Amino acid sequence: MEITRRDFIKDLLTLGGSLLFFPGSLKAEEKRGEAWHPAYEKLEKEGKLAQRVEQAYAIFEDCQLCPRMCGVNRQKGERGFCRAPARAMIFSAHPHFGEEIALVGKNGSGTIFFSNCNLRCIFCQNWPISHEGKGKVIQDEDLADMMIYLQRIGCHNINFVTPTHVMPNIINASRIALKKGLRLPLVYNTSGYERLEILKILDGIMDIYMPDMKYMDADHAAKYSSGASDYPELAKKAITEMNRQVGELMIDKRGIALRGLMIRHLVMPNRVAGTEKFVRWVADTLPKSTYVNIMPQYRVEYKAFDYPKIARGITVQEFLETMEWAEKYGLTNLDPQSVAVRNFYYKRR
Ligand code: SF4
Repeated sequence: MEITRRDFIKDLLTLGGSLLFFPGSLKAEEKRGEAWHPAYEKLEKEGKLAQRVEQAYAIFEDCQLCPRMCGVNRQKGERGFCRAPARAMIFSAHPHFGEEIALVGKNGSGTIFFSNCNLRCIFCQNWPISHEGKGKVIQDEDLADMMIYLQRIGCHNINFVTPTHVMPNIINASRIALKKGLRLPLVYNTSGYERLEILKILDGIMDIYMPDMKYMDADHAAKYSSGASDYPELAKKAITEMNRQVGELMIDKRGIALRGLMIRHLVMPNRVAGTEKFVRWVADTLPKSTYVNIMPQYRVEYKAFDYPKIARGITVQEFLETMEWAEKYGLTNLDPQSVAVRNFYYKRR
């Protein structure tokens, strides 16, 4: 049976809702009987968290927080490529039910969306927030209170979306929140455009890394992500470092993520994302059981209408070929929703 692109998108939306409680095939590795503690709590006990906050804040004076390496003094009000001030700006903070099942659980992922971005893709779905910087400037103490609030209403984690350019604020706020009773896993939900030196400051603070791997090709990265031709090489190094820090995904008895690496890869039309290269790289570099979410929900947004190669959604065939590559290269821990979408279309073939 032929499946049109319109059918494909409609089916994805339907499946997305119905799969909220899909049990999946995540590997439960929580050691029975051992109490779990967030990484940053241990670092504070060792007396190292305050030092990290100080080290991170010093970078604002000559900003090198990301590979753009602008060198501006954000403490003095100068702005670099990301246009972010030295105070955190946020667009929203709320329980999010559209994230990965292991983050959402029953009560949602406590998601905090930061304004501005250091990558700025021309197809960004959140462009009013990331490109136009819509949001509100807040103090680190307010950010800490938001984290406590998200914990109080039952969220399973604190999910920092687009965190790279506000990393110092995040770790300072996390320390303040820890003193107020925060005990949830912290999720670093990043585009993957990161510097190794900066990620090392986060070692022992973040429990879960959720990087994108957007492209494997420098020309595509430059064209669609504001000149970032070094994205593929740097993102690969960043993900390898994240894996060194937190390892494979660990979930509790309820299926909720506690610690580990979760890689996202958005399938793009005309093979722009380089998915075959991506899955081969994961299989060759990381454990084959690394959690990988191959996402089918690309849609044309913002300036993508002006770029013919990406000015349409993906087809069913384009999605299915990526899942076949993942299988061919032996990846064993694919996101259960992607697997369900694949199986759904297999049944209709
Ligand atoms: S975080 Fe912003 S100011 Fe700092 S280096 Fe990156 S783009 Fe430039």
